[in-house]
Order: sequence, then C-alpha cells, then structure tokens
Amino acid sequence: MKIETIAIQAGRNQDPATGAVMPPIHLSSTFIRGNDGDYVYSRIDNPTRHALEVTLAQLEGGAGAITFGSGMAAVAGVFQALSAGDHVILADDTYFGVRELVTKQLSRWGLEYTMVDMTDLPAVKAAIRPTTRLLWAETPSNPMLKITDIAAIADIAHESGARLGVDGTWATPLLQPALEYGADVVVHSTTKYLGGHSDLTGGVIVTNEQDSFFEEMRFNQGIGGGVPSGFDCWLLLRGIRTLPYRMRGHCANGMKLAQFLEDHPAIHTVHYPGLESHPGHDVAKKQMKDFGGMLSVQVNGGGEAADKVAGRTKIFARATSLGGVESLIEHRAPVEGDTTQTPIDLLRVSVGLEHIDDLIEDFAQALA
Ligand SMILES: *Cc1c(COP(=O)(O)O)cnc(C)c1O
Repeated sequence: MKIETIAIQAGRNQDPATGAVMPPIHLSSTFIRGNDGDYVYSRIDNPTRHALEVTLAQLEGGAGAITFGSGMAAVAGVFQALSAGDHVILADDTYFGVRELVTKQLSRWGLEYTMVDMTDLPAVKAAIRPTTRLLWAETPSNPMLKITDIAAIADIAHESGARLGVDGTWATPLLQPALEYGADVVVHSTTKYLGGHSDLTGGVIVTNEQDSFFEEMRFNQGIGGGVPSGFDCWLLLRGIRTLPYRMRGHCANGMKLAQFLEDHPAIHTVHYPGLESHPGHDVAKKQMKDFGGMLSVQVNGGGEAADKVAGRTKIFARATSLGGVESLIEHRAPVEGDTTQTPIDLLRVSVGLEHIDDLIEDFAQALA
C-alpha cells in the first residue's frame, strides 16, 4: 500500500464490539483480568496506544513501534537501553535537549560519548571505538538543517557492529523512510508534524527488527512509565490520518518562502535543504521525497535585529515548537541558554498551512 492509504487504514479495525469505524479512546487505567490477558494496566499497554503503535510501525515500514509521552522520553528510551561503559557518537549539532540528556545525565551514569560533524564521514569513522554501540544522527538537524547521509552513516555503524539511530522528526516517515536507508532505530517527536496541530506532546521509537534491543526499549517504556495518555494517543491517530496531505502543503510553502527569503537583502543566509545553495542539497535530494516545512534564516544586524523581526510578524506566532498547521517563528539561541551553538542572528521558522501569499507578505513587512 502507498503511504496515503496506510495513514488512513492502519490501526483502525479495533472495535468489533460496537462496529465503530474509528477506534474509540480508551481512558481506563486498568482492565479485568482473565480477558485473554490482552491488557492489564495502561502504563504497560492500552488499546488506543496499541492502535497508535500499529499505525506508526506501518507508516515507518518498521517491525514495531514504542510510544512515549514526549519526543525526549522516546530518545531517553533508546539511550537507556545502553549500559555504563558503552560509547555513542552524536552529531555535534544534535537537538539541544538530546545533548543535555547525554552530557548532563547519562554521562554521570557512565555512558561515553563523542560529538562529531556527521556530514564529515572520515571524522565519524575516526570516532569509532571498540565499545561504540550507537551512532545518533538527526536529519535535517534542529535548528541548522544539516543533512546527514543516512545510508553512508549506516554502513559505518554496521561495519563496527554498532546500531544507527536517526531522529527524523523534521522529515517525518513520509519524506524520509530512514529504515529503508539502513537505520536500525528511528525516533520522532510526534508533538510536531505527526500530531500536526500543536495540541499534544508525544514521541515514538520505530525499529526495523523486534530484537533484544527492541525488548530493552519496550521495557524502558513500561518501567520508566513515560507513556502517552489514551487521549493523546487518539489525538495523534487523528493527526496522522491527514499527514501526507499536510506535508504537501508544508513542503510547498516551505520552498516558496525559502526562495523569497534567499533573495531578501535583510537576510544573509537561508538554511533550507530544498535550495541548491544548501550544502546538503544533493544528499537531501537522494534521501528525502521533498524538503519539508522547516527553515532557518540568519538576518543582518545580529541578535537584536533577529529579535525585532520575530516581534514584528503578525501571522507567524512567536513561539517554540514546530510542525503544526499554524506558522511559528523563534529567535532560537536565547531559548537554548548558555550552552547553545546556534548563531545569535538565527530565526527558526515552522512554515504552516496558511496561504503562502499571506506568509510572504507577513515576512516582508517584518523585515522592512
Ligand atoms: C522537538 C524535538 C525533539 C523533542 O521532542 P519533544 O516532543 O519536545 O520532547 C527531539 N528532536 C527534534 C529534532 C525535535 O525537533
């Protein structure tokens, strides 16, 4: 089946009792024992969550999916499947929350790490140790939109007996089937495009095999307990049904806004992988079906100028997060605090589904 069909058909035949065409929300925390033992307790499993996990696994073309109450909980679910003394290689521009998780918490528990530029393949190879268990790539990266060659990094990981995990949040399963290119584990913050309406937080791990590593992560879900509520699972399922059509709009608007901004005299750099000027354009063309709805721009005049632009937009709401139907803009570096590596003049833009003419006009007046 094609992905538009999967997005709508997957995980839906869940309620033989009522004949409901759409799966109901199961909010019960507990279930009668002896009912074939299907469900016991909602931290361990829940029918609405199950329908969501079936859907996400099919959407990603994976063997299984494990959902969490946020993208960060999903990332933690992967890293906590490793042990003290294991070594991981992270992109040097990994999402700052993941960097904080590894450097401030998991390093205290004995996890060893190296940060490298994942677009520099010899540097990735050189960072491999005998204890390397996981390479962690994020593509496109947040907020610099660096593009990592998933197939090439997968080869390096597998040659050394390590796994490759990919944070594909900015691409979605629709634009970038990372498991097909050799990733072993894919993570998404479902708070973003998969939910698509900025009304839930969630995360998911999808794997290409239900092996012992999968079982470790499944254990982390139930024991860590960072699980999504039945209501959030239902909202997320509702969002997923329209993902393919929403992504077409995000990509079309993203490209047009990027082209407009690239020619604007108040902006010195546009980071959007759909532009030929982007250093990752060729790799993006190879592994992405389209280029997404996220872009970052660096404005002339430094941090103050950037802050002013974010304060002047009327349609683009000044807020963090991304991937919803509504357009957002954020002056990123101050949000990330002291340890940020993000340029001070950078604005991160989540291009929504409003009409592109209105979005361009709004940016034009904010930059004027
Ligand atoms: C937002 C985001 C996360 C974290 O997800 P939450 O749902 O906010 O916990 C992780 N990775 C990327 C690339 C993100 O954009």
